[in-house]
Amino acid sequence: MSDKPERFIDDEGLRLDGRRVDEIRPMKVEMGVLSRADGSCYLEWGNNKVLAAVYGPRELHPRRMQKPNEVLVRYKYNMASFSVEDRIRPGPSRRSTEISKVSGEAFEPVVMTQYYPGAVIDVFAEVLQADAGTRTAAINAATLALADAGIPMKGLVSACAVGKVDGQLVLDLNKPEDNYGQADLPVAMTQDGEITLLQMDGHLTPEELEEGLEMVKKGCQQIIEIQREALISRYGNEDEEGEEAE
Ligand code: ADP
Repeated sequence: MSDKPERFIDDEGLRLDGRRVDEIRPMKVEMGVLSRADGSCYLEWGNNKVLAAVYGPRELHPRRMQKPNEVLVRYKYNMASFSVEDRIRPGPSRRSTEISKVSGEAFEPVVMTQYYPGAVIDVFAEVLQADAGTRTAAINAATLALADAGIPMKGLVSACAVGKVDGQLVLDLNKPEDNYGQADLPVAMTQDGEITLLQMDGHLTPEELEEGLEMVKKGCQQIIEIQREALISRYGNEDEEGEEAE
């Protein structure tokens, strides 16, 4: 028997978890949680729990994989076997390989790769508890882990999904919306709004796509603020320090 809800949005315009259509789930981040990693971040987003760890820049072996003029950024997304209700078979899957590839590419426009030619930066994103939106949660955690590792970046990357349920666009899909909705569109973007990842499952009209991208942009801006606050609380506010030094 399907556990598909009859309706996803009630007469008041509220979703099953009480959110409005353009509201993201509560997000909590903590940086520097792993002492052996060069940078790390633990992130909770709704019921998602994700840990990101960054190692490097370090020398890349085997040497034939080195890029002579830039650093190689490797991104590995993994769902722990205990992260979902039914146990997931450990090891890479088609899904995790695809997510790792597109998520790594989402950082290409921001990481200043020219600084460490021949080296590698490894980003590990481990999903400890999954509840829809794990690839976007992992990207949000990975951005802060990269910053925590001191990797030079032009800016932060934030990510959020938009989708469609009951014929309406909704921001940051929860599990039933992701499972039974009509569309799911995870997006990552730089703080300047340049899209660095866009995937789509399901169907949206061109008008819905346009409107959905506007919604997701607003969601990503909220996430950038959360990321910025986490950075300031860990490393202080550069402007304030500058003022003090004067
Ligand atoms: P995302 O987590 O980025 O939204 P998907 O849309 O592929 O990626 O997955 C949606 C949700 O479905 C996941 O967050 C997770 O809760 C669940 N899920 C994904 N893969 C599996 C799996 N192999 N077994 C059980 N649940 C899964």
